[in-house]
Parts: sequence; C-alpha cells; structure tokens
Amino acid sequence: MNFDSTSFPLRPAWTEIDLGRLRNNLRLIRRDLPKHVRLLAVVKDEAYGHGALDVARIALEEGAWGFGLSTLEEAMALRDAGITEPLLLLGERQEAELPWCVEHDLTICVNEPHAVRKLAQIAAAHGKRVPVHVKIHTGMSRYGVRWDEALPLLEQIVAEKSLLLEGVMTHFAQSDETDKTFANLQFSRYREVLHALEQRKIPVKLRHTCNSGGFLDLPQAHLDMVRVGILLYGVFPSSVCRRISGIEPVMSVKARIAAIQKLKPGEVVGYGMRYAATSERRIAILPIGYGDGFPRVRNQGGALIRGKRAPLIGGIAMDALMVDITDIPEAQMWDEAVIMGRQGNEEITVHDMAKLKNSVSYDVLTNWRLRLRRKSVNGKSAPAKVEVETAAAK
Ligand SMILES: *Cc1c(COP(=O)(O)O)cnc(C)c1O
Repeated sequence: MNFDSTSFPLRPAWTEIDLGRLRNNLRLIRRDLPKHVRLLAVVKDEAYGHGALDVARIALEEGAWGFGLSTLEEAMALRDAGITEPLLLLGERQEAELPWCVEHDLTICVNEPHAVRKLAQIAAAHGKRVPVHVKIHTGMSRYGVRWDEALPLLEQIVAEKSLLLEGVMTHFAQSDETDKTFANLQFSRYREVLHALEQRKIPVKLRHTCNSGGFLDLPQAHLDMVRVGILLYGVFPSSVCRRISGIEPVMSVKARIAAIQKLKPGEVVGYGMRYAATSERRIAILPIGYGDGFPRVRNQGGALIRGKRAPLIGGIAMDALMVDITDIPEAQMWDEAVIMGRQGNEEITVHDMAKLKNSVSYDVLTNWRLRLRRKSVNGKSAPAKVEVETAAAK
C-alpha cells in the first residue's frame, strides 16, 4: 500500500515527525563528538518509528557516516532509495542472506567460523573484498563471540583474502545507569581483544562500542565510531544520563476531538463501565486506541487540549479513548489533542507514556502502529551553521 498523503485525507489521529528537531539533534550530537569519531545513525525498525528514509536523508546531510539496521529488508529499503553509504546490519545473518549482503554491499557482523568461510566464498565469487565487523560478546550474552575466545575467529577473517576486518565492536548491557561497574568490566574485556590484535599487528579501522548511553556517559569508549539511536530522536535513554541541552523529541502523537458527550451524575463511560460520573461532566472522544499503540489503560493518563491536561476516563478501546474536558469549556469538535508531545506549556513525554505502559521509551516509540500515518513537518529547513564542521568530520 502506498497512499499519496497529499491527496488522501489524513485520519484525525496521526504521528507527527518534526524533521527540524531531528536535524538539530543531529547537529548537537555531531558537535559534541570529537571530530575523528564517526556517527553511525541507528535507523532500525523504521528509525524507531520515525521513518527510516526521511531520517537517513537528514542524517547524511548532518554528517552521519552510515546506518545501523537490524533486518535485510530494512537495509534493502535504503539501498532501493538510492542510499549508497555504509549500512551495518547489527544482528546475526542466516546463510541464505549472505549473497544479498555481498551483492548490495551491506556490511554484516560475522561471529562464527562457518559464516566467515561462507561469506569469504561468496565475496570471492563476486570478485569483491568485503568489509566485515566482529561483535565481541563481553558480558551481555546476546550476539557475538566471547571476548576470551575471539582471537581465532579474528585471525581466520584476516587470513581470508576476500574479507576485510573493518570493525570490532561490543555492546553494553547497561550504559545509561549511574553505576558503570559492569560497563567498565565489559570495556576492559573488549580492550583485551584490541590489545591482542595490536600485538599481532592486525589493524582495525572501526572500533566501536557505544550506543546512546555510552555516547553520553562513556567518552573513553567512543573510539572510532558511536552507534546512536534513541538520542537522535530526542529521547534520553534514561533519566540519569548526561544531558545535552537543546535535544528535543522528534515524534508527537496527535488526534482530533471526534465527539463530545455530556454526562449526568451516575452515568458511565466505555466498555466495562470503568468510570461513573459523580457530577455533571463534559467529555471528549478521541479516535485513537490500543489498536494504534496506546497502552490499554483505565482511568489513567490523558491528553492535552487547548494547552491543558484532560484526564483519561474509563477504559480505552481499540479505536477510541475518552477524556474529561469539564475544565476546558473552550474545547470544541475537531480541536487538536496531543496524546504524546507538547502543547502550550504542558507536555506528555515518551517516558510518561512508558510508565503508563509499564515499559521503556524504546518500546513506546516503536510500537505506535502504522495505521497512524506519519506526517513530517519542518523537513525543508536548509542546512546551515555547523555544516562546515560536519563536512570536516566525515
Ligand atoms: C539498537 C542498537 C544501538 C542503538 O542503541 P540506542 O540506545 O538507541 O542508542 C546501538 N548498538 C546496537 C548493537 C544496537 O542493537
């Protein structure tokens, strides 16, 4: 499905992506990084729900070196759109995916000997020297080769003429908490691997370990590149990370009032009759529900209307939720309501939504459903100010 959003009326519930804020966040991050440190913009899962292509185009204008992705489909979509910069697939590849990766110059992580051999054969058959990254598992026990067993694999890659050991990376299990004990342990294990490579005079162009939390709080671990995801989108990975001032959230979720009802004392609201009015109330119905990714709450949370907070009442439905607007008498049909984001001096943050959902900000951003169409705003603002610096940083 490919609706042309300029000719098709927007449903009165949508996500709004402020590309001007995205650009500004990128500039602030780029400016904060030492010039020699590359920025890998992590745009997996549709750029955390922001739209991978829009984000990728702006990130390139603002000095990103390449992109971090999760699936073959995500990478192919960027190649299809004409993006020729490095695309690093962060997970593990099945054998059937390897020819695609070689043909379309997708950079992958190889973490075990069989994959190294296979990839080397395919690369040789294509007459290519294929850059690869090795993920060192230093304590998170997810993808990667154990730090204390990594050397034979690294030597195997170096011995393959059709492969180039471009990157050696690791990933922190906890980089955004105040206690950095485990992150420091992981980093020291990772450095053991680098040290062993140095002793064998094996060069590595890209040593990288940091996600957003590491970028903010572990400057000693920036090395050659940082892999920043959530911070691009204006959301701090936790409440205790270092703050860069000026970073602003890129995504808002909005809806318009689609019905207004008056309640008499004793009248109830919604499925399960989870709310009963104790006095006369005026309520607004917003056409957005759990089918759009709103957490399935009852009498919790709310929306912003006319710059004021309207508390959610009753249980939310698949396609609708109800808010109390008794104290906002000026509210009218089709007024814009902010579900997540700012209005006037009020704000419902991604972290507020995460609390409602009993989850984390990452989950909130990525789980707004696509039936909420994305409306991009401020996409045209010309690159200015720090352009010269970012060009130098490439
Ligand atoms: C998703 C991911 C990142 C980005 O993490 P953020 O916390 O969003 O910055 C970095 N590295 C790897 C390996 C990832 O999977």
